[in-house]
Amino acid sequence: MKVAVIGGGVAGLSAAYFLAKSGVNVKVFEQKYLLYGASGRNSGGLTVQFNSEPLIRLAKRTLELYDSIQSEVGFNFLLRRDGYVKIAGEGEESELKKEVEFQRRNGVNVELMEPEFVRELFPDINTFAFSVASYYADGGVVFPWPVVWGLAKGCRELGVEVYDYTPANVELKGNELVVKANGESYKVDYVINAAGAWSDEISKQVGVELGNKVYREEICVTESLKPYVDPYIMDISTGVYFSQSMRGEIVGGILGSETTTLETKASLDFLTSYAKRITELVPKLRGMAILRQWAGLYDVGRNGIPVIGETKVKGFIQLNGFGRHGMSLALAAGEGVAELITKGKSSIIEPFKP
Ligand SMILES: Cc1cc2nc3c(=O)[nH]c(=O)nc-3n(C[C@H](O)[C@H](O)[C@H](O)COP(=O)(O)OP(=O)(O)OC[C@H]3O[C@@H](n4cnc5c(N)ncnc54)[C@H](O)[C@@H]3O)c2cc1C
Repeated sequence: MKVAVIGGGVAGLSAAYFLAKSGVNVKVFEQKYLLYGASGRNSGGLTVQFNSEPLIRLAKRTLELYDSIQSEVGFNFLLRRDGYVKIAGEGEESELKKEVEFQRRNGVNVELMEPEFVRELFPDINTFAFSVASYYADGGVVFPWPVVWGLAKGCRELGVEVYDYTPANVELKGNELVVKANGESYKVDYVINAAGAWSDEISKQVGVELGNKVYREEICVTESLKPYVDPYIMDISTGVYFSQSMRGEIVGGILGSETTTLETKASLDFLTSYAKRITELVPKLRGMAILRQWAGLYDVGRNGIPVIGETKVKGFIQLNGFGRHGMSLALAAGEGVAELITKGKSSIIEPFKP
């Protein structure tokens, strides 16, 4: 059986990795370098604090897979499970409370907290800047670059050909799927569309309407401080989030918004809004130098959830639409797609079928 994966992000590489473990012949095509997509530009926050049962299941499995994959591929993903905290102001308080009730009913060990308790996790937080928090102790932060590099290493060691700087297109010739890349044509049994923000484009090539929305999100890092911020903190009222990398930089941004272009320009507007809110939340950060800022693109499935599974075109599989949570969801999704291809069925991805 031959499989072509379009997109060398965390989704495409994890599907390739699990397929190769089952002995399938896989090629991965990445149009630019391996960290070009959202998988190389994100803040690495890991959580299962979702508001639907299928998403919670996918996230729980993904968190388990980080541990097993990093030891299998012999690569340190720099993953810390120091907790994931969502904070909210009065306007969003009831929404957060409802979410916590739902999650607890679905077996997620999440706690509702007063601001004072958040200060026990992170003493510099301004407890007057929010009114309630939800804390998931097993969440945390992963450094996305080693995740991508480690998956690519694991794939190559299992015989997957991972081509970078190789844009691919797909064609339907009668009932046959043909991938064109490198000036070559490859006849394959399956094509996995893991092209992130470019997934709509790939889907149209075989006449399948996808309708994912594209979002652009900006983010930055400061100079280094001695590591002291343990959890990942997400303010659902303003969309501002931050954590601290193991090198000591404060890595933070503002949740993305829909865009019609595939541009990744960084803006001064972002920096001003971010600086204002982050220094309200953590006054001690005033005056810190920003070292680097950038933007990334991700796609959100039409119904706000990922799109995973076979389409009306036999062999053409969607593995996209992860929105702002691909690091928390995509490993299990990739594993599910591999199961679908090799065994004909996968219950964990069933709720996300196109
Ligand atoms: C600033 C920012 C912060 C984020 N923070 C978090 C977070 O804290 N936690 C979290 O879980 N998620 C976060 N995300 C979201 C997360 O990064 C994405 O959900 C995830 O990386 C999506 O992975 P993917 O493999 O589907 O897509 P991508 O990583 O975008 O990979 C798709 C790849 O396909 C390639 N491609 C496209 N077209 C072609 C073609 N024709 N031929 C070959 N290759 C092609 C692209 O170059 C790209 O590399 C964040 C995203 C951003 C931008």
